[in-house]
Amino acid sequence: MKYISTRGEAEKLDFEGVTLTGLARDGGLYVPEELPQFSAEKIRSFRGKPYAEVAFEVIQPFVAGSLSDADLKAMLDATYGKAFRHPAVAPLVQLGANDWLLELFHGPTLAFKDFALQLLGRFFDHFTAKRGQKLTILGATSGDTGSAAIEGCRGRDNVTIYMLHPKDRVSEVQRRQMTTVLEDNVVNIAVEGNFDDCQALVKACFNDLDFRDRVGLTAVNSINWARVMAQIVYYFTSAAALGAPDREISYTVPTGNFGDIFAGYIAKGMGLPIRQLVIATNKNDILARTLQSGSYRADGVEATLSPSMDIQVSSNFERLMFDLAGRDAAEIRAYMDTLTAEKGFDLKQGHLEALRASFAASQADDALTAKVMADLYKASGYVADPHTAVGLASAAVCNTDPSVPMVTLSTAHPAKFGAAVTDATGVNPTLPAHMADLLSREERLITLANDVTALQARIMQGM
Ligand SMILES: *Cc1c(COP(=O)(O)O)cnc(C)c1O
Repeated sequence: MKYISTRGEAEKLDFEGVTLTGLARDGGLYVPEELPQFSAEKIRSFRGKPYAEVAFEVIQPFVAGSLSDADLKAMLDATYGKAFRHPAVAPLVQLGANDWLLELFHGPTLAFKDFALQLLGRFFDHFTAKRGQKLTILGATSGDTGSAAIEGCRGRDNVTIYMLHPKDRVSEVQRRQMTTVLEDNVVNIAVEGNFDDCQALVKACFNDLDFRDRVGLTAVNSINWARVMAQIVYYFTSAAALGAPDREISYTVPTGNFGDIFAGYIAKGMGLPIRQLVIATNKNDILARTLQSGSYRADGVEATLSPSMDIQVSSNFERLMFDLAGRDAAEIRAYMDTLTAEKGFDLKQGHLEALRASFAASQADDALTAKVMADLYKASGYVADPHTAVGLASAAVCNTDPSVPMVTLSTAHPAKFGAAVTDATGVNPTLPAHMADLLSREERLITLANDVTALQARIMQGM
């Protein structure tokens, strides 16, 4: 499988190349040159199979030429056979006649990001050992990516990870999940700014090609294709369990950087009969507004009860736009130039229509988020986290056909956002046993100004 950049001016790479590169050298994002196509028979064969086996079937075509079947199988067994605490890995929970939750929080750091980052750490190990190369990983986190990436990379031989988070804007559990990892190859940095500032610092380091080559920089944010790829799998397992391909399934996805829902769009492109893909956002609703008005315009990030979605500029949206624009890289370069110059752009009419044909969107503010958590708890005793609640709110608004199963992705464990959950429901969700002492563990982190020179100096110091 070969990968091409959405901006059309970087070299084609194989899976090993895109995994180690992250952001393309022309500033674009890598996407597969073409998608594998799965027959109805193949999708039907996924029913009842262990998660790791379906993962092999789904991922194999994307890594072909870079990983042997035996190596891939071993990595998938180690990831999904052992690192997740639920035997189904991604269990479905039925909430209503045709309403389902897909619980994606049974991994080591209690959010869906473990699905990709547990695997990505193993890819890094494998490819760096093969090349005899060292990697510097730089990421920005609104909370959950950081801990999942650190957990995936801690103690790995050839990898040093620098993780930026917006100072005082992640929950205490989220921060401690990162800062209590004391291995020497893990550096936590609190940036005096918001998540978009952190993400801009990361982008600036990647766009400085000299610096990038000097330190062997790579990305763990969902600009890294391997992240999106790993997330395609649970659309297939859940849809097959609910009757696909002999029946359509709809999904609602709590969305920030557009990685998770983009994986659903890819699954659909591979032949999975997905009826609706609903983008659920909190108050930071650039995507919902874009869908409505055709105008993609950031207007500042607001802190909400669902901090992992407090994002304005959704990097993976560029991957979708590339498809909306008929894979014309010149169109993407023009849009992105406008975005840089004017902090926004207007989608062409044809591109907007293509967007509306594939997605619906809705937003939930904090009051609605809390109400959904409270109502669900009262009605069923189920305790959902605030991100999941944003999803449920949007699913209720956007569902156009109650005869089609609607699966809302439950992206985090409620104990990760304990304060918001307790305020809404009166229940104090407990952390699983392996993190029971998290709040008393030693922390290690440094604080930096929102300044790329200071960041690069700190990374060089560690070389
Ligand atoms: C990262 C995250 C999201 C948003 O996912 P994207 O792939 O960035 O759209 C939603 N919920 C939780 C709990 C997350 O950690």
